[in-house]
Amino acid sequence: MPSECTPRFLASDNTSGICPEAMQYLLEANQADDLAYGNDRWTARAADRFREMFDYDCDVFFVFNGTAANSLALSAMGRSYHSVICHELAHIETDECGGPEFFSNGAKLLTSPGANGKLTPQGIEALVTKRSDIHYPKPKVVSLTQATEVGTVYSREELLAIRAMADKHDLRLHMDGARFANACASLNASPAELTWQVGVDALCFSGTKNGLAFGEAILFFNRELAEDFSYRCKQAGQLASKMRYVSAPWLGLLESGAWLTNAEHANAMARYLSEGLQALPGVSLMFPTQANSVFVELPPHAIEALKAKGWTFYTFIGAGGARFVCAWNTTVELLDQLLADVKAVLDVRA
Ligand SMILES: *Cc1c(COP(=O)(O)O)cnc(C)c1O
Repeated sequence: MPSECTPRFLASDNTSGICPEAMQYLLEANQADDLAYGNDRWTARAADRFREMFDYDCDVFFVFNGTAANSLALSAMGRSYHSVICHELAHIETDECGGPEFFSNGAKLLTSPGANGKLTPQGIEALVTKRSDIHYPKPKVVSLTQATEVGTVYSREELLAIRAMADKHDLRLHMDGARFANACASLNASPAELTWQVGVDALCFSGTKNGLAFGEAILFFNRELAEDFSYRCKQAGQLASKMRYVSAPWLGLLESGAWLTNAEHANAMARYLSEGLQALPGVSLMFPTQANSVFVELPPHAIEALKAKGWTFYTFIGAGGARFVCAWNTTVELLDQLLADVKAVLDVRA
């Protein structure tokens, strides 16, 4: 058993390490030299695997992190005088330090509320029709996060309804897929069913939260938007000279199927934790657990006591409360320890 203050990590899915499949491909890529700047065999193969997996001839780019992926993708989807409609809890709004606005030279984010971290067609339309004069930044893009920042998922029906509204107002659709694999696992849906088949123009697909050291893929299903995109990546400092060390581990996820099994495992662990927490008197879940994170309301004394016991978790993400995130390597044993500790710290005052 760990001592009281040994750190135990459920703060995010990026506290986890590199999964074995990604590590194996990283080591394989290190067996021989190859061309630089993405002209290597690993990068070409990874892009081809994405096209097979999505059953679509999309354009594929690799960058280091999610902020760059979202910011650069959005900058290619509109002009500086356009606006991007997103949920008020969207990562692009709350956690990217103005990156999307910066890289688009000023495009404004317009935020909308919505239950369970989700945009609605009505919320989108309200922002589009609020003004139509030249003084208002012209809405051009809808950005939604799948799975959402609060661990819920958009169903295919919800995505289709958003696409219909986007069509009505000539808006492009961007998907922040920091937890796209978790959404596929949760909905038992194929990558195609959750993207181009529901009219998504561009997807930022995170490898980092799925089991890589770092690396995100940007997929353009609307290929016109990808024109000159490689120059944007280079200018933004996102063109890795040894690109193969980003793309080879990605290939490890894709060719082994770990991209999905890792997500399925993380989701299953979150469900286990969610059920365990709900069984404790006095604990209330803030959102339905549909992906790999669990949000609960806990009294301040319980939060402090859990932190003193070494648990790492965030209390400022999304709508507050305590957020616990499971990853590809989260164990039942760890979650049982947390459940026992939550029970203990709540009992103290009860
Ligand atoms: C983690 C995350 C990102 C990417 O964050 P980086 O730290 O820039 O890699 C993007 N969107 C969401 C919803 C996230 O949770």
